[in-house]
Amino acid sequence: MSVVTNSLPPGFPDLAGVISDLDGVVYRGAEPIAEAVEVFRHWHKAGLPYRFVTNNSTKSAEEFASKLRDFGVPAQASDVVTSAQATAELLKARWPEGARVFVMGASSLMEAVAAAGFEISDQKADIVVVGLDRTVTYAKLKTAVRFVLNGAPLIGTNPDLLLPCEDGFEPGAGMLLTAISAASGKAPTVVGKPEPHMIETALARLGTERTRTIMIGDQLDTDIQAGRRAGLFSVLVQTGVPASSRSEIQADLTIASLSELVA
Ligand SMILES: [Mg+2]
Repeated sequence: MSVVTNSLPPGFPDLAGVISDLDGVVYRGAEPIAEAVEVFRHWHKAGLPYRFVTNNSTKSAEEFASKLRDFGVPAQASDVVTSAQATAELLKARWPEGARVFVMGASSLMEAVAAAGFEISDQKADIVVVGLDRTVTYAKLKTAVRFVLNGAPLIGTNPDLLLPCEDGFEPGAGMLLTAISAASGKAPTVVGKPEPHMIETALARLGTERTRTIMIGDQLDTDIQAGRRAGLFSVLVQTGVPASSRSEIQADLTIASLSELVA
């Protein structure tokens, strides 16, 4: 059966797999986006595999999968790649087990870093990791800035400045990362989108051909840029954060609703 309409350009190969952002695509905060839920249910029934990649570091993969299932989208923990997981993987690749990490972020991020074999500390730190911390204080910002000034590398789970929520937008992890980077004068290493690491992880889990896999997102500077860097056909859906008119990134296809992708 056809799972894609003629809105994809001529020459686009048969779709084999989908990688998608979550917030602003499948839901806005706690509210599901009905058309998107229907499309993913349709793809599941049609046997088209999908994986989700989220810059959100404040929930575990299982918590995201559970939220998706509550909305009616079939999903397991292994279907979701989070920036907290990806950050822990990057730490493991670059630093020895037992290195001390100051984490500014949610408990899910601390758990992922600790599970990777690192010591969480606010007394001494070899590395500073910054995600979205909804209980941020001046004291935490001061601690982070001092560690970075003393030479600790600055790692950010994601650069998002704004997050869509039920009643508008809230500031994201990128705001905290930008503040610490500005104060310390040190450029951060960013793990999440627009870097392609999470896309590559999702692609490996899908096992589909790169040229037959699409990347869906609501933000040009993160989702679409990451998809392009990974060499995927990119689809911008306009149900989340309004696209910045200043962005120089272009999606291969722009649609108002995900339902436009289903015949
Ligand atoms: Mg989004």
